[in-house]
Amino acid sequence: MHSTFLRRTLNAATKSKCRPLRHGSAHRSYATPAATSPSGSKAPIVALAFLAGVGLNYTMMQQSSPSGQPAPSNSKLQKPSQEKLKHAIALIPFSGGTSLEGHFAAPQGGICLSFSEHMNEVIAFHPEDLDVVVGPGIGWEDLNLQLKEHGLFFPLDPGPGACIGGMIGTSCSGTNAVRYGTMKEWVINLTVVTADGKVVKTRQRPRKSSAGYDLTRLFIGSEGTLGIVTEATLKLAVRPEKEAVAVCDFPTIRDAAAVVPEIIRAGVQINAVELLDDEMMRAINLASPQLGHAVKPTLFFKFAGSQAQIDHEIKVVSEITKQHLGGSFKYAKDEKEQQDLWEARKICLWSATLLKENASIWTTDVVVPVSQLPIIIDETKNNLKHSTIEGSIVGHVGDGNFHVFLLFDPAKPEEFEEAKRLNKQLLTRAIEMEGSVTGEHGVGIGKKGYLRAELGDATVDLMGTLKNALDPKGIMNPGKVLPDD
Ligand SMILES: Cc1cc2nc3c(=O)[nH]c(=O)nc-3n(C[C@H](O)[C@H](O)[C@H](O)COP(=O)(O)OP(=O)(O)OC[C@H]3O[C@@H](n4cnc5c(N)ncnc54)[C@H](O)[C@@H]3O)c2cc1C
Repeated sequence: MHSTFLRRTLNAATKSKCRPLRHGSAHRSYATPAATSPSGSKAPIVALAFLAGVGLNYTMMQQSSPSGQPAPSNSKLQKPSQEKLKHAIALIPFSGGTSLEGHFAAPQGGICLSFSEHMNEVIAFHPEDLDVVVGPGIGWEDLNLQLKEHGLFFPLDPGPGACIGGMIGTSCSGTNAVRYGTMKEWVINLTVVTADGKVVKTRQRPRKSSAGYDLTRLFIGSEGTLGIVTEATLKLAVRPEKEAVAVCDFPTIRDAAAVVPEIIRAGVQINAVELLDDEMMRAINLASPQLGHAVKPTLFFKFAGSQAQIDHEIKVVSEITKQHLGGSFKYAKDEKEQQDLWEARKICLWSATLLKENASIWTTDVVVPVSQLPIIIDETKNNLKHSTIEGSIVGHVGDGNFHVFLLFDPAKPEEFEEAKRLNKQLLTRAIEMEGSVTGEHGVGIGKKGYLRAELGDATVDLMGTLKNALDPKGIMNPGKVLPDD
């Protein structure tokens, strides 16, 4: 089973085809014209696949509610009662299928709108404005392959295989977020089909605008529950002149985590800093033995810019790591080794399955103010040590964001219960530290029960009001984001 998942990862990473980008050009070729967007694109309906419950891509991951039961269908907030849904079929948008909280499950059935086969193209490219207009089904890796020869890139890097529609859906980020931020900062405008069939373009193309409510950000992170994205204009970044990748190990995870707030306070603009605990390093060595890492808590760094900038950043960061008992930096020798090191980091989730035979993984995601990071990481590691199941920690710690992968045998209900307990403990702790129950994976089904505890009733109720105004019949990806009460 393990090798199947690793193969799938590599397939996802290499299936992208490089096509030349034409300046300002329209490349679209949609299968079924259904409407016309303000920018002239033929809007949505693509491949439709009826769901009798979704066939999930990543079966080893937790893709249902925390209880393992289908989500209740009669949410008071969302009001998608069976009575209403009888004449209004649920619509579940699906792009890359890599989301992790049951986002595209169909507990009430419905129609799955799949974007990656047909709406997967660059529609217009404006290098002089540093932006690109794309369909929702284009993958971030494919887009970056196409942009490479222009010296540009799109800096969000979620799971291999993820596509722009889903990345907007979850407001994703990734390893580059400490420098470049999240999806919310990189989308200029969206074309969205709303529940009543209207085609809405959220704003024009300049980099900034004060015109009216910020509908772009209303839809980003809405997980397909407010409308269906059929087109997006994205900002682009200039590729840095040079990059350097280095790893540094530490005696304890608290030492490693304590480095991060100090780097941020030192004002060093690193491109990425990723923390992996000893268990995760063991998994990486199992998946990629040629990398030969020490099985110790480790920080992965990415530095970028001119050689002078990189040298300065490395000098400051290595001084901080030494103060926290870090070992010497191990550098990637060339671009290939950089890619191998980073790829191993990107596929941690799949590598973690190698730590236990027949394991399912419950992957969870929290974020705290960066000053709280060493404390929450240390306490979490301690909880894992005393647990009856295994777990590993990996995180985009420059933002205070980390994930815990909990391994359980699906045939043993007591192991599933223990994973549930550990997840709840972690989420509750993050909220107590003024953090969030999800830094980047989103709410889906798995986290909706924690929204009131994190945001409070007034905030969640206002979200419910917005949902009801935009989707009164509750047909847009029902059962996701908003709690059932
Ligand atoms: C190995 C691995 C590593 C990962 N690493 C990261 C990481 O570093 N950072 C991170 O943020 N995430 C990460 N993820 C999670 C995942 O890649 C992200 O959540 C990603 O943004 C999902 O994109 P997708 O195209 O796969 O979306 P999907 O799973 O297809 O959909 C996600 C959500 O968006 C909705 N949606 C899809 N298309 C549209 C559309 N056109 N209009 C409206 N709504 C739509 C769906 O209904 C669903 O609610 C990782 C996942 C894996 C498996």
